[in-house]
Amino acid sequence: MLNTLRDQGAEPVPLIFASMCSAGPMTRECYHQLKNEWFERLERSFPIEGVLLPLHGSALVDGLNDPEGDMIQAARELVGPDVPIVVTLDLHAHVTQQMVRHADVIVARETYPHHDQYTTGQRAARLLFDILVGNCRPTKAMGKVPVITSAIHGSTNSDDPFADLMRYTKALEQRDGVLSTSLFLIHPYMDCENMGSGGLVITNDDPDLAESLALEIAERYWDRRHDLEPKMFMASAAIAKGLQVAGGPVILVEAADCCGGGSCRGQHSSVVCSC
Ligand SMILES: [Zn+2]
Repeated sequence: MLNTLRDQGAEPVPLIFASMCSAGPMTRECYHQLKNEWFERLERSFPIEGVLLPLHGSALVDGLNDPEGDMIQAARELVGPDVPIVVTLDLHAHVTQQMVRHADVIVARETYPHHDQYTTGQRAARLLFDILVGNCRPTKAMGKVPVITSAIHGSTNSDDPFADLMRYTKALEQRDGVLSTSLFLIHPYMDCENMGSGGLVITNDDPDLAESLALEIAERYWDRRHDLEPKMFMASAAIAKGLQVAGGPVILVEAADCCGGGSCRGQHSSVVCSC
């Protein structure tokens, strides 16, 4: 984002960055301290022409299931309807109505394992400039399906079902009038309402196209839902299987991206980042 802003001759005004390893929900005190500091800095940065928010998208706070949607809404209420807000998310995000309603554009990472943070930031910043110079007027739709699965079959590099869905989703970006497509495999260990995976489509002044393509992605996702399920073992069965392996060491581990995610409440952390 920063390099694209500088290339365009814009002046970036950084706010704050916060990050923690995945675990249980963060406390309300922690969240409000971070949010207040971020919000005050955003307020002090005026006048501004646009807002770029690199978020994760699956943060949880005690008693608040959508802190990132809450932040996007707060930014919207502060800057008003005419200042574009462009958001980036992890593809393991919990995409909510609040996020979609208050952001002009949401783009997600395209790779898992993740190695496209840099290009995701570039894509977002370029879209912000396209809006500012009048090249586009984003319209969007999220097609959500009640599919909650671990990321075991969520690689985008292989023949995994998620890789296939991602190729299909990204190919839709070649269609006329499509600005961006994103595919989500929700972080599964969250415990909140309206969880689901699916596709988010941003079009240029064409909400009907966004809706129909988001629906296409959702239907395809639903068709592949059983392919995304990992093979599960009871702990005793996993140990018995491990004992059959000659030599060693044998490691029993949660291998799907997010050790510690979904820990019980009272563990004071989660993932939130903003700048
Ligand atoms: Zn992720």
